[in-house]
Amino acid sequence: MRAEVVSVGTELLLGQIVDTNAAYLGRALSEVGVAVYHRTTVGDNRARLVAALREALDAADVVFTIGGLGPTQDDITRDALSEATGIPLALNEGIARELQEFLRARGAEILNSQLRQAYVPVRGWHLPNPNGTAPGLVFELPSKLAIALPGPPGEFIPMLEHAALPILRQRTGTATIRSRVLRVCGMGEAAVEDRVLDLMASDNPTVAPYAKTGEVHLRVTARGDNGEEADALAAPIIAEIQRRLGDHLYAYDDEPLEAAVVRALIERRQTVATAESCTGGMLAGRITDVPGSSAAFPGGVVAYSNGLKVAMLGVRDETLRSHGAVSREVAMAMASGVRERVGADYGIGITGVAGPDGGSEDKPVGLVYIALADPDAVDVTENRYRGIRSDVRLRATQTALTMLRDRLLLSA
Ligand code: AMP
Ligand code: MG
Repeated sequence: MRAEVVSVGTELLLGQIVDTNAAYLGRALSEVGVAVYHRTTVGDNRARLVAALREALDAADVVFTIGGLGPTQDDITRDALSEATGIPLALNEGIARELQEFLRARGAEILNSQLRQAYVPVRGWHLPNPNGTAPGLVFELPSKLAIALPGPPGEFIPMLEHAALPILRQRTGTATIRSRVLRVCGMGEAAVEDRVLDLMASDNPTVAPYAKTGEVHLRVTARGDNGEEADALAAPIIAEIQRRLGDHLYAYDDEPLEAAVVRALIERRQTVATAESCTGGMLAGRITDVPGSSAAFPGGVVAYSNGLKVAMLGVRDETLRSHGAVSREVAMAMASGVRERVGADYGIGITGVAGPDGGSEDKPVGLVYIALADPDAVDVTENRYRGIRSDVRLRATQTALTMLRDRLLLSA
């Protein structure tokens, strides 16, 4: 079954609100095995909406509209769907009465504009809206459906879950589309793709890479007549990707890198302490975002100034003077300083130029030194990140976590 989604609202086009409903709908439709082929956003303009609906109805078995069912002049989805499907609307006395009673209980008389919400398609049916006044609408064409849902998420989500999805489930049975995300660190997008290129030619499951900041995600999506069949189709491909990417594959689905690292530390009963300059505590923040991280993370220091690097971490004045605050030597001294003072198994030191100002010819914006200390040695990497300040900082924490993870894998 193929679906198309048409979101209606000028405020969506202007970027004043984000189309969270369509994202929710996309996830929900894949769970019931419905493939979404197109998603369109149209402003509150009847001619353009009718054109978009006609196109969607031509291509899809089911067309969803989101929004534009309310009482005001700019709520045109009902009329536009009637025009695009050729299915007239008729007053539903029951809905009109309920509306009247609802308004009277609030001391108001019904306006003609509000009565528009009581019109439903003559071929089709309506979906009750326990959370608002506008019912959902189903227009029934010989071989397809158009389902109109209200815009406010508090009305949209319950109506989708309780009224619209059951209609589709009836037609698709147990069919489902399942996706897994394989999370990869320490490799660029092109390199990841190169290793799995032949697998990407597959139609079911599909394999697709996504570049994220400092990591790459591979999405494996399988369609099946039921969940087990979809999983069975995906399993050999996932196993093959695991084989090809080895330790670069660090986690699945929603587990972020910091969670994988904390998990590895806890398994080994080891701890890490952090000393951060340009990342300003972002690394400690990511680590402490992970539930249970206290077992692996006694704490860290944000040492932005030279004075604090000396006082809190024992970095020597001499080291700062001769190499500068952004240097291999200072990163190493920060890492071993925090490790010793906190009494952790590992120490991480980060110092760099996050930008946009403060760069120089030999220390440009994006230059970040990251050191990892353990009882035997201190390693340091020189990184040159591109991007804006927030990217540089995030990438630095990403590299730090990857370095620690690599070290933990070596010691396993
Ligand atoms: P409407 O049904 O078009 O009158 O929209 C009513 C309200 O619902 C809007 O003002 C938004 O706050 C919200 N809304 C409409 N469409 C969406 C959407 N696609 N995603 C999230 N919120 C929406
Ligand atoms: Mg609207």
